[in-house]
Formats: sequence, structure tokens, C-alpha cells
Amino acid sequence: MNSIAKAITELHSTLPEGVELVAVSKFHPVECLKQAYNAGQRAFGESRVQELCSKITQMPADTRWHFIGHLQTNKVKQLLAAGPLELIESVDSERLLSLIDAEACRLGITVKVLMQVHVAREDTKFGFGPDELLAFFRQQKYTALKATHICGIMGMASNTDDTERIRADFHAIAALRRQIIDMCPDLRGFNTVSMGMSDDYPIAIDEGATLVRVGTAIFGERNY
Ligand SMILES: *Cc1c(COP(=O)(O)O)cnc(C)c1O
Repeated sequence: MNSIAKAITELHSTLPEGVELVAVSKFHPVECLKQAYNAGQRAFGESRVQELCSKITQMPADTRWHFIGHLQTNKVKQLLAAGPLELIESVDSERLLSLIDAEACRLGITVKVLMQVHVAREDTKFGFGPDELLAFFRQQKYTALKATHICGIMGMASNTDDTERIRADFHAIAALRRQIIDMCPDLRGFNTVSMGMSDDYPIAIDEGATLVRVGTAIFGERNY
């Protein structure tokens, strides 16, 4: 077995029930995705629209695609036209959400998304601040959406070796989802907590992740 297949098999056998693996394949060639696919992996995460569009056409039809990168508003049309996406995990502004909804309406499709929340210390990361996200739900702004289903939240921990800091960040993300659920009893299917990457996914799972996004531990280092 090659190293990609080995990593996939290992992850599939060790991830607990209820935790889904998204194989983050950005910057890796399609041959690598095919090796993961042949080992049983179906969900793949990409962070650039152009790259996703090209890979969709080269992979089997039952491959499930997640968009996980910062989505520029002028790329929304191109992304939604690329083909059926399982989930856009990285909705980081209300403006982006409205544009996705408008385009989904126009195409007559339903789009599933996660709200990206920014709890980490760095200011470079995209996403809603926790208070901003709570305000969005408190004001029930989601009720204006016509063709978009918000399925949960996505977040990243601080970029640090301090595991207690990482744990606290993941804890905060999972707690935020519960707070939102409690505040909005009419919100259906707000169940996904996407958090955890190669270096920290075991901690994320401990803290309640339902979906982990693992790249390097499967495909090796990326050549940017
Ligand atoms: C690249 C990326 C990952 C995967 O990171 P690894 O450290 O390679 O596992 C996960 N989530 C997001 C949002 C990413 O951009």
C-alpha cells in the first residue's frame, strides 16, 4: 500500500463513529486524490476555486467536494457552477452568504454552508468573531435565506504548540454551536462542527468535532 492509502485506511479505522474525514487535497495533483479515493475516501477539501473546478472534472462522480478556503465574492458564480458541492465550509461574511444565496436561487439549487468562526489569537484569519456570529443568529438573519442551509460552524485553533490553548479554542467553537442552538430553537440541522487539522485533530475530536479536515498527514507537505 502506498503512503496515501495507508494514511486513509489508518484514519478510517481510528476516527470515532460520528466524525467524518475530509481529505484536504489542495495543491496536490489529481493522482494523489485518486489514490485516496481508491482507499475509500470520498470527501475532499479544496481551497481555490480554479483548482476545485479542474479537479471535479477529473474525479469520479461520487466524490464529495468541500470548499474550505477564503471565497472571494467575485468567485461565487464560478464555484457554484463547478458542479454539486457537498459543503462550503468557509462562509466568513454576511455579504458572502447573501451572494451565495442569491446565486443558488438563480441556479435553482440548495447550497449547504458552515459559518467560519474566528476564535484564534491571530488577526490574519478570516471568519466571524464569536460575538458577531451570535448577533447574526440572535437577529435571526438566517431566516432571510432562500436557498442556503447553514449546517453548523467551522473554525481553527490558534497556531501554537500550546495544547491547552488549542483545546480552549476548540472548546469555544463547540460551545458557540450549542449557544446558537439554544438561542434559535427553530434552527434545523445546525449539527456540524468542523475543526481539527493534521496536527490537532485528536484534540478537536475530544472537544466535539463532527468533521475533521486533514491534509498533510495524508498527502504530505504541500508545494505552494
Ligand atoms: C489547509 C487546510 C487544512 C489542512 O491542514 P493540514 O495541516 O495540512 O492538515 C484544514 N483546514 C483548512 C481551512 C485549510 O486551509
